[in-house]
Amino acid sequence: MGRTVGIDLGTTNSVVAVLDGGEPRVIPNAEGSHLTPSVVAFTKTGERLVGAPAKRQAIINPENTVYSIKRFMGRRLGEVEAERKIVPYKIVDGKNGMAVVEIQGRQYTPEEISAMILQKLKADAEAYLGDTVDKAVVTVPAYFNDAQRTATKNAGQIAGLEVLRIVNEPTAASLAYGLDKKENETILVYDLGGGTFDVSILEVGEGLFEVRATNGDTHLGGDDWDQQIVDYVADAFQRQTGIDLRKDRQALQRLREAAEKAKVELSSSVQTTISLPFITADQEGPKHLDEALSRARFEELTRDLVERTVGPFRSALADARLAEGDIDEIILVGGSTRMPMIQELVKRLGGGKEPHRGVNPDEVVAIGAAIQGGIIGGELKEVVLLDVTPLTLGIETLGGIVDKVVPRNTHIPHRTERIYTTAADGQTQVEVHVLQGEREMARDNKTLGQFMLTGIPPAPRGIPHIKVTFDIDRNGILNVAAQDEATGRQQSITITGSTNLPKEDIDKMVQEAQRYAQEDSRRREIADAKNRAEQMIYQTESYLRDLGDKVPVDLKNQITAQLANLREAQQSDDIERIRTAMDTLQQTTLRLGELVYQQAGAAAGGGQTSGAGQPPQGAEQEEVIEAEYKAE
Ligand code: AMP
Repeated sequence: MGRTVGIDLGTTNSVVAVLDGGEPRVIPNAEGSHLTPSVVAFTKTGERLVGAPAKRQAIINPENTVYSIKRFMGRRLGEVEAERKIVPYKIVDGKNGMAVVEIQGRQYTPEEISAMILQKLKADAEAYLGDTVDKAVVTVPAYFNDAQRTATKNAGQIAGLEVLRIVNEPTAASLAYGLDKKENETILVYDLGGGTFDVSILEVGEGLFEVRATNGDTHLGGDDWDQQIVDYVADAFQRQTGIDLRKDRQALQRLREAAEKAKVELSSSVQTTISLPFITADQEGPKHLDEALSRARFEELTRDLVERTVGPFRSALADARLAEGDIDEIILVGGSTRMPMIQELVKRLGGGKEPHRGVNPDEVVAIGAAIQGGIIGGELKEVVLLDVTPLTLGIETLGGIVDKVVPRNTHIPHRTERIYTTAADGQTQVEVHVLQGEREMARDNKTLGQFMLTGIPPAPRGIPHIKVTFDIDRNGILNVAAQDEATGRQQSITITGSTNLPKEDIDKMVQEAQRYAQEDSRRREIADAKNRAEQMIYQTESYLRDLGDKVPVDLKNQITAQLANLREAQQSDDIERIRTAMDTLQQTTLRLGELVYQQAGAAAGGGQTSGAGQPPQGAEQEEVIEAEYKAE
């Protein structure tokens, strides 16, 4: 049986944690870091990079480097106009009007891109634990809607992980914070990450975690702060030079990275400089960017963003029927809460109380997810976790009005049944249009799905009884069914059906991901073989050079020809050919090795220490070649 991990699949970074002897622990990735950038890149040579290596090459390959994919999960194209403008990669209209990424002429759903990140997290965790990892608890912002949750679950499935549970990030954070708490406390989790904002109010106490209310904004995060700096600096540069850096993808990517760095610096210092030499050029020559930015100016630039978090904060308090003074602790989650302006705001909103500092804002969510995994797996004692549905769910009725069936902040899992009837005499079918959102009119809310219940026996309006059931599971995923009570005819949908990926597509993606994992390891093998060949070529050449005239002509010619052969093989992707060429050369260079030893012996016998230095060095190189060759 494989291990279960907790995964915080973040907009900017992702984190994996595991329960180790009952204690949660963050797992370092292959690069040795706790945070894996949620970045996937497709290089010009067809290689796929994930994490830090992908992030590192973003500047030179911006249109093929996908970051902030979480902002597009489960979204229709029309919902992401703003974020589409700020990413350098292409977002296009996919199936069912869903937003998809287009790279090098191929479309990838956000689920697939996220699955690539999850695959790396899984592989790194497996390498670290020395065990297979096949199950995960994955977190999402509490304010994620049904389509976004389902998309996240699908991403896990594509990556070969059984997603045991989708948990809300603030709820996970509260688990990490409050698992050992003996007394009841009311806590507020203020979570501002790279792309999303959540605020949740919970009651935590011994064994009980009850979410009282949740609110947020899935279009608000640290990226927006970066964007303000980008615009500020690009505007200043344009004023000075007439050049708009936002039109040059590469310059823009450099600027964006510099902006994020400046933002992070301004969390600890009051002044920073954004310096980008050779950012662009015109007829007069290269242009350099050098712009100072103070914390005060930065805070002024982003005041409206800070203010945007106030509304959800107050709404959550109101929904929980609490006043500021009723909150015992405010827990800060997400990298963006390191900004002093956010800490000040939270302090102000919390009635002057300092936020809790005992948890690491980057890791607390993954740790909570690992704890949840432990609870599900029976490793930890059962706690009662009462989470809520973040948005109101309803169906469209006569005149386009929404009948609200499940109000927001209702505890989940949850089930509601309601009876509806027909609107016209002799009506034999009804359309069930399922909606999510707080507005009164259907058209102002998000459509989750639509289906027809047919075969209702003709009757005067108002007579048929149609029972509609809303069922929300522990992951917050909704299933809606409609039944004509007279005939027992029934229709239902899991909301995933309309806006999300059909099962066949997921299956295909799972297979592709598996195939890619194989292809990936083949590519790695090819790259390794090529590297070893290159090393061998290099070492043999320097070996020949060092020995000079001491190598008999025929042997030298033979080696030179074999070197040429290996060089040619090394250019191909044919592993067998590379190996054979290496083998042949290896055999011949062995003779060279023998020669070296003979000469070394002769030289040592002559007592010439200076001359003896070279051949043994050559012999060492020979060993290196051999050792590496055997190691493969
Ligand atoms: P998360 O999604 O929780 O990993 O948060 C990532 C976001 O936090 C990114 O936008 C980062 O730029 C931002 N961030 C991380 N550290 C800091 C810091 N010290 N000051 C300001 N923002 C930060």
